[in-house]
Order: sequence, then structure tokens, then C-alpha cells
Amino acid sequence: MNILMVAPPGAGKGTQATRLAERYGIEHLASGDLLRHELAAGTTLGAAAKDYVERGDLVPDDLVMRLVLDRALVAAKHGGYVLDGFPRNRQQAEAAYAMTGQDEDLTLDAVVHLAVARDELRRRMLARASAGGRSDDQAAVIDHRLEVYDCQTEPLLDYYRDRGLLLTVDGERPIDEVTEGLFDVLDGVRAARHPADSRHPAR
Ligand code: AMP
Repeated sequence: MNILMVAPPGAGKGTQATRLAERYGIEHLASGDLLRHELAAGTTLGAAAKDYVERGDLVPDDLVMRLVLDRALVAAKHGGYVLDGFPRNRQQAEAAYAMTGQDEDLTLDAVVHLAVARDELRRRMLARASAGGRSDDQAAVIDHRLEVYDCQTEPLLDYYRDRGLLLTVDGERPIDEVTEGLFDVLDGVRAARHPADSRHPAR
């Protein structure tokens, strides 16, 4: 199973992607975590990405794609992936799509969108900040990340809806209910597209 998660910051992508990875035996690839790892390790790529991440801007496509695409290709050959935080704009979506055209293992199965209202997103990210969270969880940066999502990432919902891949789930419910909702729809996708895998009980 190859799954993308397209949702605003604070919607719960990371939590839900971890659970999907476990249930379907696929790899969880989070572009934000990969970038934060590069920053912490002080690599050249991390140094080039640092200011963008701290401002809440998108890191240039070539840097992110270098981190994400090869890992996604490898994961696709070993059961699949759930990509959390990538693609974030049209150019990244087109690069991911071009990659999936190469081989049957790479075909996308679903694009998951977690719908959460703006006030709730802000509340969650500020709560994460006061619990000692990330350096980009400050009010001004949070607002900027939400604007970047609206301008650059949200238009991808139409892109994937047009391709019949978009599954929208209400992300404001309690975490476990969101997970159950996702399992319900994605179990259906798996049964339709990967019947051999569905014979093994989900974890
Ligand atoms: P996240 O953990 O997904 O909220 O991402 C944290 C930050 O990493 C974002 O605000 C961006 O600066 C950067 N980032 C993560 N994924 C991408 C991506 N696909 N394209 C560009 N920048 C990204």
C-alpha cells in the first residue's frame, strides 16, 4: 500500500501515519522529521534547509525530494509507504506522480486528507509549543505555516480528487476515532487493490 497524507500542520498527520504504517506493515516517511534530523545532525542539506524550517516556509523542492523520493522508492519495493508531509506543492506532487508511473509497485493507493478547522489547528499547535515542542510552534510561525498550507498545499486536494484518490476524514474527532475511520476506508482500498494482502489479518 502506498499512501500520502495531505493535511494542514496540527491536523494529526504524524500520529495517524504511525498507526497506518503499523497496521499495513508499511514504512512511515515524514518529510518534516527527515528535515529536522538533517538540521540536528548539522549536515550540508540541514544547513541549507534550516532558515526555511525556522520561518515556516517550504524548503526548496530539490532538497526535500533528495530526502524523500529515494526512500519512497525503496519502501515501495518492500510493501509500501505512508508519506506524511510530502508532497506540499504542485511541483512535488508532479515529481511524485512521475515516479509512480514507472512501475506497478509505485502506484498510489490513496491520498488521505484530515479535515480540521483553523481555530482547532492553532489551539493544538500552541498546546504542543507549551508542552516544550518544536521551535516552529510559535504563534507567528504557526500562522505563517497555515498560510503556506492554504496557498501551496491545499490546492493539491483538487489535484488528487480529480485523480479519484482523495479520502477525506474528519480529523477533529478523538484520536482513536480518527484512526478507526481511516482503518475502515483504507481496509476497503486494500481489499479492492491488493486482495492478496487482505487475506492476512491487519495488525
Ligand atoms: P512538518 O513536520 O511536516 O510540519 O514540517 C516542518 C517544516 O519542514 C515545514 O514547515 C517546512 O519548513 C519543512 N517541510 C516539511 N516537509 C516539506 C516539504 N514536503 N516541502 C518543503 N518543506 C517541507
